[in-house]
Amino acid sequence: MSNKKMGLTTKIFIGLIIGLIVGLILNKMGPSHFRDKILVDGIFTLVGTVFLNAIKMMVVPLVFVSLVNGAASMSDIKKLGRVGTKTLGFYLVTTAIAITIAIVLSTIVNPGIGLDMSSLVKSEPTIAEAKPLVKVITDMVPGNPIAAMASGEMLQIIVFALLFGTGLAAIGKKVKPIVEMFDHLNDLMMKMVGLVMLLAPYGVFCLIAKTFSGLGFAAMKPLAAYMLCVLGALALHAIFTYTGLLVAFTKLNPITFFKKFSAAMSVAFSTASSGATLPVTLEVVEEKLGVSKGISSFTIPLGATINMDGTAIMQGAATIFIAQVYGIDLGLNAILTVILTATLASVGTAGVPGVGLIMLSMVLQAVGLPIEGIALIIGIDRILDMARTAINITGDAVCTLIIAKSEGELNEAIYNADVEEKSIV
Ligand code: ASP
Repeated sequence: MSNKKMGLTTKIFIGLIIGLIVGLILNKMGPSHFRDKILVDGIFTLVGTVFLNAIKMMVVPLVFVSLVNGAASMSDIKKLGRVGTKTLGFYLVTTAIAITIAIVLSTIVNPGIGLDMSSLVKSEPTIAEAKPLVKVITDMVPGNPIAAMASGEMLQIIVFALLFGTGLAAIGKKVKPIVEMFDHLNDLMMKMVGLVMLLAPYGVFCLIAKTFSGLGFAAMKPLAAYMLCVLGALALHAIFTYTGLLVAFTKLNPITFFKKFSAAMSVAFSTASSGATLPVTLEVVEEKLGVSKGISSFTIPLGATINMDGTAIMQGAATIFIAQVYGIDLGLNAILTVILTATLASVGTAGVPGVGLIMLSMVLQAVGLPIEGIALIIGIDRILDMARTAINITGDAVCTLIIAKSEGELNEAIYNADVEEKSIV
C-alpha cells in the first residue's frame, strides 16, 4: 500500500503498534536523560497533549451543535421520547449483562485465589462519593447553561441543547435560518474534527509510547490473571453481546462494523476517555456507518456520558478479585448487589481516564469489601482503562445502530460501502 493511499485508520493502527513497541523498548532501557526528559516528558507529552487538547476542544461545541441540529430536525416530540426510552433501556440492560459476564468469568478463573497481595497495598485510595438519585436527576438541569458549557457538564449540555432544538422545531418556519445555520455549523464541526484527526496517528503513537515506557511488562505479572479476566470479559462482551445484538436486531454484518469502528476504538484506547473520543465516535457513526444525525447526536453523547459497559466489567472483575485476595466469600445477595451498584457506578463514571477505578469504591463499600483493595490494581489500571474505554464507546455505537435501524434512520448503503472509500477528512 503506498503512503498516499493509506487510510487514516491504517495510519492510526501503525501509530498504535509502533508506540507500543517503542514504549516497551524504552521501559527495558531503564531511566536516562534522553528517555525521560527528551522523549517521555518532551516529545511524547508535547504531541500527545496537543492531540488530546485538540480533540477535547471539539467536544462541547460539537455536542451542542449536533444535538440542537438533531433535535431541530426531529419535529416529532413523541419520537424523541420513544428514542430516549429505547436508548436508556438498551444502555442499562447491556451494562448489567457486561457485569454478569465479568463476574462469571472471574469466578471461573479465580484471579485472586492463592495470591497474597497485601504487601502491595501502599496507599489509601480515594473514596468515591455516591450521589443520591435525587441529586443525579436535579443536576441534569443546568441552572446556568453557559456555566455548564464552560465546565463541560455533558448531561446538562444535552438537556439544554435538546430543549433549544425542540424549541426551534416547535416554532418551525420563522426560525428556519437558525436551523439552517446549525446545519452549516454541524458541517463545520465535522470538518474541524477531520482536520484534528490528521494528527491522530502521531498523537496515538506518543500517548501509547509514553504509557508503556512507564509500565513495561514485568510490573503486570502478578496481576496478569486479573487483567486477563477483565480483557477476556471485554472481548466476550464485544463478540457475543454486541455482535449478537447487532445481528439479531439489524441483520448488519458485524465485521464491517468492527472494521469501520476500529478507528474510533483506537482513539478511545489511546486516550482512555469516552468524552475525548466523542467527536471521532460521532464522525465514524454518521459518516462511515450511515446513522442519521437525528439519532446519533442524541445517543452518542448520552452514551459517552452514562453507558460504560467496559467500566462495569472492570468493576465486576475487580470486586471478585479483591474479595478473593482478602479471602472474603461473596454470597448470591452480595453478587446481585455488585451487579446493581456497578451498573449505577458505571452510569456515574465520567468519560475521562481513571474515574471508573475511583467509582469502584462505591461498589466495594456496598458489599463491605476493603476499599484499600483498589490500591492493588491501581498500578495496572491505565492499560485496562484504555481497553475498557474502547468497549465503552463500542456499546454506544452498537446501540445507536440498533435504534437507527428501528427508526428507519440507517443508510445501509453507507454502512456497506468500502471502508477506505470515504475518507474521514
Ligand atoms: N476511562 C473511561 C471512559 O472514559 C471511564 C473509566 O472507566 O474510567 O470511558
